[in-house]
Amino acid sequence: MTVNSAVLAVPFGAGLPIGSLAATPSCGQQPQPTPRQMEGPYFTRNSPQRRSLLEDGVSGSRLVLSGQVRGLDCAPLAGVLLDFWQADGDGRYHNRDYRLRGHQFTDHDGRYRLETVVPGLYPGRTRHLHVKVQAPAGPVLTTQLYFTGEPRNREDPIFSAALLMSRAGSSLQGESGAVQAGFDFAIPTA
Ligand code: FE
Repeated sequence: MTVNSAVLAVPFGAGLPIGSLAATPSCGQQPQPTPRQMEGPYFTRNSPQRRSLLEDGVSGSRLVLSGQVRGLDCAPLAGVLLDFWQADGDGRYHNRDYRLRGHQFTDHDGRYRLETVVPGLYPGRTRHLHVKVQAPAGPVLTTQLYFTGEPRNREDPIFSAALLMSRAGSSLQGESGAVQAGFDFAIPTA
């Protein structure tokens, strides 16, 4: 049995009385709070503000990640900080500079867009991005995002199917255009 099928056995909203759902605005696919995960050893404070982490000397296939940040009441959240960091296409973190690190803020509709590269694999982990997400007056959510169809997802003890990005467009090996991925966050605002 794969991790995916195990998770799909528990539908979103399971355990909630049906009558309570009518008062809650629809959040689409992700009404549950985005789960937190360990920070790991490679976070660096004070990353530059930028929506693209692409620059000369950074290896890897192009990846565009976009999505929306909502509160737990489903309202889109403007001005939410998203601070991303990740390994390069060869599975290496750049800890002496800010390569593949950057923060941005959601727009008026809670939306964000990150241009980067597909992170490479490194020993002991499946493919992942790191991110901290924080509403203007809210707590910091530290978590990680995962790629669908990765064989190592099944072996990585930290992997969570609730943190899988949706994917459209070319495959990881595709040479034309970027890999397109999506993820919507649901976070507390206080
Ligand atoms: Fe990592």
